[in-house]
Amino acid sequence: MLKKNGKPTSMFSPKLCCIKGFSSSPLVALKYFKCILIASSHCTVTTTLAAQCKSAPRRQVCKTVLKHFDAQYSEELGEQWRGARDVLLNPLSWQYGVLLNRFSDLTNLKQCLTAFGYTNLLPQTTHPESQSHTTHIPLQCFIHRDPVRIPTQGHHPGWLKQYYLLNAASLLPVLTLNVKEGENVLDLCAAPGGKSLAILQTATPGLLHCNELDKHRHDWLLKTLESYFPPALRHLLSVTHLDGRRIGSVRPGAYDKVLVDAPCSNDRSWLYTPDTHQGEMWLKERTQLPLLQKELLCSALAAVRPGGVVVYSTCTMSRAENQSVVEAVLASYPGVELLDLEQQLIDSLSDHFYFAHLHPSVGQLVIPLKGKTWGPMYVSRLRRIN
Ligand code: SAM
Repeated sequence: MLKKNGKPTSMFSPKLCCIKGFSSSPLVALKYFKCILIASSHCTVTTTLAAQCKSAPRRQVCKTVLKHFDAQYSEELGEQWRGARDVLLNPLSWQYGVLLNRFSDLTNLKQCLTAFGYTNLLPQTTHPESQSHTTHIPLQCFIHRDPVRIPTQGHHPGWLKQYYLLNAASLLPVLTLNVKEGENVLDLCAAPGGKSLAILQTATPGLLHCNELDKHRHDWLLKTLESYFPPALRHLLSVTHLDGRRIGSVRPGAYDKVLVDAPCSNDRSWLYTPDTHQGEMWLKERTQLPLLQKELLCSALAAVRPGGVVVYSTCTMSRAENQSVVEAVLASYPGVELLDLEQQLIDSLSDHFYFAHLHPSVGQLVIPLKGKTWGPMYVSRLRRIN
């Protein structure tokens, strides 16, 4: 049912799949509706979005990793681990956010999403740091209360994708960074580029420096930026392939804001480690991560100008990779202060995200729970004083 200039095209898949409830049943048909999407200035794509009956692929849980998580997280999170565990063990319950690309033609897309029951994560957005003024943040992420997933869009040179699918909690570090027009920003660990892309939805920086150590992931990052950001604005981007631990000494005080979305033991994917041996290797590597994370955070603090802000984030619930990293850096790095996340931002997201109770707290942790399956995502905000 997909036509481009009269010919079938694969730019959009005509399927919109919904996974019902928390059951492990096959995907079930929802409803049909017509949707016109403008794919470029040259072609109009008419598509019937429809759910289809399809079996969801089964994923194998790695028992070694689960055992390790059970021991660690029941001690660190208490009762909260039970709810998070249920969600992590049931991928059919996971929700997916649809981050719109303000640089693409979005004609009819919002109406389509709304008709299907999506709502904007930030409907009446107020600027996170403003008390009295309401400033519009252009970032638009549509979410659904059910575990619905629309198809990803393929890469087509010369065409800007309309949306990016993501865990909506990964917008929290970006909203916390709160980039303003013209600021110089460093995304220290940037691939595959979801947060770089989200930063570009919130404001147009003077410079966005995206860095990634891994060569393959660096190439993936380049492709993401090419797929979402118009050529006329690409002079605002700089993409490098460096060890982020070195950037602080290579470019001291060069940035207004730095995001450290650190390499971490990604709780969601680690649980589905394909084999026990790999699981054991990862758990060994896990003990090395806090040192790397501290070094990256220190490098970020050296790279930001005095008065500038660094946001540290991970997608794990591990205390050693979250609170302990921030506490160690605060204790050892001179001239740094901890900033709370804006209460206004937390309040506006609390309908959708579950913020864990942490004691003591040097950041915020979103943990997935039934009906609010976003996260895990840990965020902490620091300011370099001098
Ligand atoms: N911010 C990305 C996004 O939103 O799409 C996700 C980043 S992922 C959590 C962490 C990234 O850090 C990985 O791509 C990893 O290859 C990269 N990385 C690991 N060690 C690094 C280092 N020393 N310097 C820079 N990047 C590093």
